[in-house]
Amino acid sequence: MIRNFIHGEWVNSTGKKSVDIINPANNKVLEQCPLGTSDDVDRAVESAQSAFLTWRQVPAQERVQYLFKFKSLLEENVTELAKLVTLENGKTTVEAKGSVNRGIQMVDTACGIPSLMMGQGFEDIAAGIDCIAIKRPMGVFAGIVPFNFPAMVPFWFWPFAVACGNTFVLKPSERVPLTQQKIFELIQKAGFPPGVMNMVQGGKEVVDALCTHPKVQGLSFVGSTPVAKHVYELGTSHGKRVQALGGAKNFMVVLPDALMDKACATALESIIGCAGERCLAGSVILSVGHKTHQEVEERITRLASEITIGDGLDPKTNMGPLISPQAKQRVKDLIQSAIDEGAKVLLDGRQNVDHLSGNFLRPTILTGIRPEMKIAQEEVFGPVVCLGEVQSFDEAISIINNSPYANTTTLFTTSGAAARKFSYEVDPSMIGINIGVPAPMAFFSFGGSKHSFYGDIKAHGASSVGFFTDTKVTIQRWMKDSSIW
Ligand code: NAD
Repeated sequence: MIRNFIHGEWVNSTGKKSVDIINPANNKVLEQCPLGTSDDVDRAVESAQSAFLTWRQVPAQERVQYLFKFKSLLEENVTELAKLVTLENGKTTVEAKGSVNRGIQMVDTACGIPSLMMGQGFEDIAAGIDCIAIKRPMGVFAGIVPFNFPAMVPFWFWPFAVACGNTFVLKPSERVPLTQQKIFELIQKAGFPPGVMNMVQGGKEVVDALCTHPKVQGLSFVGSTPVAKHVYELGTSHGKRVQALGGAKNFMVVLPDALMDKACATALESIIGCAGERCLAGSVILSVGHKTHQEVEERITRLASEITIGDGLDPKTNMGPLISPQAKQRVKDLIQSAIDEGAKVLLDGRQNVDHLSGNFLRPTILTGIRPEMKIAQEEVFGPVVCLGEVQSFDEAISIINNSPYANTTTLFTTSGAAARKFSYEVDPSMIGINIGVPAPMAFFSFGGSKHSFYGDIKAHGASSVGFFTDTKVTIQRWMKDSSIW
C-alpha cells in the first residue's frame, strides 16, 4: 500500500481519490497511488518545521553520517531499486541501474557539505573591522518530481538540502511512487531524525499546497514546461525560492568531419535511450551538407532497425515501452503530423506494435525535417529520430537558438575550432561535444535556460548550496578595554 511518510512514520493519505500505477510493459495495474490533500501537506510541513529547529543545530559532519549510512543502504539495494524503476517506468534494467547509480553519486557529493558549505571571512575590511559570511540553512524545502527518473531526480535536491541543515518534503510523481516508497524505507532505516525527510503522495492539490504553504522556504521542481512555469509563478508569488526545470527540444549537429560511425551510434542512443523519455534526449539531427546528411540517414536507419523492444526486465531488450497509452498515442500523432507536413519515413516505429499489450513503439526515423514543422518544435518524449539537412554550420546554430527551449545540444566534429564556436554561440546550457547525453555529474550543476528552466540557481553541484542556504554576514569591531590588558 502506498502511504505518506511523515515525522518518521508511515501514515495513510487523507485523500479520497487515487490513480492506478501501471506497468507500462503490459498495462497491468500494480497498485493505487493516493492523491493527497493540503491537510497531508500541512502535517508534513509542520513536522519538517519542528524537526528543523533541532536538525540545524546538528554539526554538519554529524548530519552527513546519516547520508553515509543511507548511501551504503542504497548500494546494497541497487538491484531491487532498479527493478522497481523498470516495473513502474519501463526503462531497461541497464538504464534503471544507471539511474540509481547516478542518484547515489548525488548522495556521495552531498556528503562533502562540511567543505561545500564553508563561508568566507576577511580581516580589516576597514581599520579594526572584520567580516564573516556564513551559509545558514533556512528551514523547510520541498521537491516535486516527474515520472521519467523515479529514483534519480529526487536525489538532485534533497541530499544537498538536508546536508545543509534544512528539512524536506518530497512529492514523487503519482505515476511512479513505488521506487520512492522503497527509498523512504531506506531513509527510515538510515535513522534520520523524525521530520527531517517527509513524503506526501499526490498530484496538483499537493503541489499547489506546497507552493503556497507559509512555512515552505523553497521549491525544487522538475517536469514539463507549463507546470514548471506554474510552480515558479505560484511559488515565487508566495515569497519562495524556486528552481524549476522544464521540458526540452534538443538538437544535434553533425559536421562533415565527424567520425561518422561513432557519431551516428551516439546520436541514436541519445534519442532512443529510455524510449526517448529523457529531458536530455536528442531529437533533431541537423547534418551539414548533403553528403553528411545521406551518410547519417543510411547509418542511423541501419542501427535503429536492429533495436529489440520489450519488457525492460528482459536482458535482451534494448528499448522499453513508453509510460502510458496516451503518451504512445501522442508520439504517434506527432509522427503523423510530420508526415502530413512533408517528412519522409525511413523507418516507421508504429508498425508491428499494436498487438503488444504494453505501450511499445519501435524507433522511427523521419527525414526532410524542417524547423517550422510541429515535430521540430515540440518535445517528442518518444523514440523518434528527426533528420534535417542544413547548408552551413551557422544555419544549424541559428535553428538551435531559435528554439524557445535551451536544455542541451550536441555537436559531432573532430575540429576543436568548430567545437569552440559551437560552445560559444549556442543558447542551451548543457553542451555535448561528441557526447550524446551531456548530463553533468553530481558535482557540477544541472539545468537549462530559456523555457527549459525558471529560476536562478540550478540543480545539484556546489552552486546548489546557494539555493539551500541564506548567506549571513557579521561585521564586527571590538574596542579594546584597557583596564584588562
Ligand atoms: P509533469 O509536468 O506532468 O509532472 C511533473 C510533476 O508535476 C509531477 O509530480 C506531477 O504530479 C506534477 N503536476 C502535473 N501537472 C500539474 C499541474 N497541473 N499542477 C501542479 N502540478 C502538476 O511532467 P512529467 O510528464 O512527469 O515529466 C516529463 C517532463 O519532465 C518532460 O517535459 C521532461 O522534459 C521534463 N523533465 C525535465 C528535466 C530537466 O532536467 N529539465 C528532467 C526530467 C524531466
